[in-house]
Amino acid sequence: MASGLVQGLIDLSVSIPSQDASRASQQPRSKPYGDGLNRAVEIRLLTHAYQGHTSNIIVNVACGLGLYVQFYLTGEVNSAVNALIFFLLVQSTIRAFLGRRDAHRLSTESDPGSQIAIGATRRYLYGVAVACMTWGGLLHMALHSGNSELMYFTIIVVSAMASGATGVIAPMLKCGRFYISSLLMITIAELLLMPQPETVLAILVAVFWGIMLGAHARNHHMLRNSIELELKNSALVDDLRVQQDALTEFNLTLEDRVKRRTSELKRLAEHDSLTQLFNRRGIIHWVEEQQRKIPDGYALAVIFIDLDRFKQINDGMGHATGDCALAEIGERLASSAPEFAAFCRWGGDEFVGLLAVPEDRCVDIGLEFTAQLRAIVEKPISFSNRSVSVGFSAGLAVSKPHPVAVSEAIRSADLAAGEIKRTGRGGTLLYTPDLVAEQERNLIIAQRLKHALPAKEMHLAFQPLVHSHDFSVHSYEVLLRWDNPILGRVSPEEFIPIAEDIGEIVHIGEFVVDTALATYVEELGRASHIRLALNISLRQLVVPGFAQFILGYLEKYRLPTRMLILEVTETIFDARNQDTIIGVLNDLHSLGIEIHIDDFGTGYSSLSRLHEMPISALKIDKSFVQQIDDQRSAIIEGSVMIAERFGVHTVAEGVETIEQARLLHAIGVTYLQGYLFGKPVEHFAEVSVNSDFLIWPETARYKAS
Ligand code: C2E
Ligand code: CA
Ligand code: CA
Repeated sequence: MASGLVQGLIDLSVSIPSQDASRASQQPRSKPYGDGLNRAVEIRLLTHAYQGHTSNIIVNVACGLGLYVQFYLTGEVNSAVNALIFFLLVQSTIRAFLGRRDAHRLSTESDPGSQIAIGATRRYLYGVAVACMTWGGLLHMALHSGNSELMYFTIIVVSAMASGATGVIAPMLKCGRFYISSLLMITIAELLLMPQPETVLAILVAVFWGIMLGAHARNHHMLRNSIELELKNSALVDDLRVQQDALTEFNLTLEDRVKRRTSELKRLAEHDSLTQLFNRRGIIHWVEEQQRKIPDGYALAVIFIDLDRFKQINDGMGHATGDCALAEIGERLASSAPEFAAFCRWGGDEFVGLLAVPEDRCVDIGLEFTAQLRAIVEKPISFSNRSVSVGFSAGLAVSKPHPVAVSEAIRSADLAAGEIKRTGRGGTLLYTPDLVAEQERNLIIAQRLKHALPAKEMHLAFQPLVHSHDFSVHSYEVLLRWDNPILGRVSPEEFIPIAEDIGEIVHIGEFVVDTALATYVEELGRASHIRLALNISLRQLVVPGFAQFILGYLEKYRLPTRMLILEVTETIFDARNQDTIIGVLNDLHSLGIEIHIDDFGTGYSSLSRLHEMPISALKIDKSFVQQIDDQRSAIIEGSVMIAERFGVHTVAEGVETIEQARLLHAIGVTYLQGYLFGKPVEHFAEVSVNSDFLIWPETARYKAS
């Protein structure tokens, strides 16, 4: 029966952790620490129990020996008492030995459900139970001895032991209760079962029992709470440490992430997303970084690249294709960058290249490098169904390798690129300070040009073209003159391109036609056979209804269409507006109006297309005429041969000397024009063709060998 009771207690005790754990799970108070804390408390309580184990045994042995002395003094010692005391000493020795071992094992144990913990709990209980049975035996012997001195002594000793157990066995709630209850219940039972039952004493012991159980429970809970508190504190400290570590870790990764993100943002902020080249900010930052690395005596060649007619690609092939082309060009530029060079996408279709080169050769190398870039960029870019070739206008400037100077130089190179674009595209212009002055003047001209006609600042001049064989006047070229009160006389060579740029040429052109025809009728009369040559800009030619517009003025002055010549430049061979241009030229030609190609040899020499155009004459540019030497005469001879091949006439302009006239006549040029024959004058009557030298040898026709 006793072993059954002990087993029950063991089961109870062993199941404590899980019970406590389930209780804990129902208690939100311990939730943050949960099962872990309860398990830790259990194992700490067990350890505590073992810490008081030895003193418990010593008290047991001391009390046992003391009682034995009392038995001896009262002469009540017998073999049963001897056996019980002997058993007490043996079991105490065994318990002490096993207790030390268990205490040692438990010092490293953290799981109350482990074999070690369960074994230790079990052995503790066995020990307590065996001690209780022994004391039960001793109590029985003492209380049935009939010696009241021994009886009271024993009750006092047992009560003292029960009282001591409230502290010593406080860690083990159930085990302590069992120990205290067993000792005092046996005492009560023995008191009541005495031949003369000591009822009052039994009641006193029962009251004492209750008090002791209460004291034990309080002690247990105090101990439990203090352990719990201690563990919670250390858990809190651990938690804080973990949190601190996590925070440090978090801070570290945050720092890393911030670093990573910062460099990512820096890349984004300094690069163009489409081409992956630097953007404006990036290229300046590059200069800042390279500043110290670029060797002394080096400067930066700043190349501003403005793609030609990129808008056409965008409009004609779509923006996606345009973007692909830009990305491809960006890649080509980047891959052509040597050391100490960088490229940036400045804006839409504009790029900037920087190249560190020896200061004294900066311009030469810059120009050479630009030519290389041109070759690379102009290579056809293939798309799925077609390929395009993109050219560019470039400006070159020289800069010190310093961010502020570079920013300034980029502006200068941009200016030069703008200038080259305006005057014909596809070239490279070196920036000079004059360019700024020039551009400022252009701006003023553009502003004043708009008021030139209403202010009647423009008028016309007429310059004769003569037949080369007899110097008879064939026609008059109409040349525009502009006298501005502030700017003075402005050359048409200067203001016509600006008028074309700002679109003002259309109004001016109308003024020229109207005034020229009016002057013609007034000064030469409708019956005159002399023709009138008008300079027509491409911009005028492509205005819808241009042929009708000309016809309208001829009708207005009732002049025949055959009296009119239109001089157009080689820009008509420009691929753009080809259909419109050919259409309008055909219309004019079919009306009987002659078309002459002006400034022949200076521009787009698309001779292969000459036969597509209804051209009547090629007007050889004065630059070839005025510097006639072997090479230039070869160009003139070539032009004459081409003209003859196509069955058209030739005109030589800018003839200033008799020698030039002689040579041109000898080459076979049809018409001559120049100061030699007459300067541009305001009235036809003022024209007096110089014909003093009008005697050609009969065999003057010069043939090139
Ligand atoms: P262009 O059509 O080549 O005109 C010939 C230019 O050469 C004229 O200059 C004329 O004055 C000049 N010239 C004529 N003979 C000689 C000579 O023997 N020696 C020299 N050194 N020069 C000579 P200008 O009048 O200054 O005109 C310049 C340009 O302006 C013209 O070149 C033409 O392209 C343009 N232009 C003039 N008037 C008009 C116009 O009404 N409409 C348009 N669209 N352009 C015009
Ligand atoms: Ca002309
Ligand atoms: Ca010309």
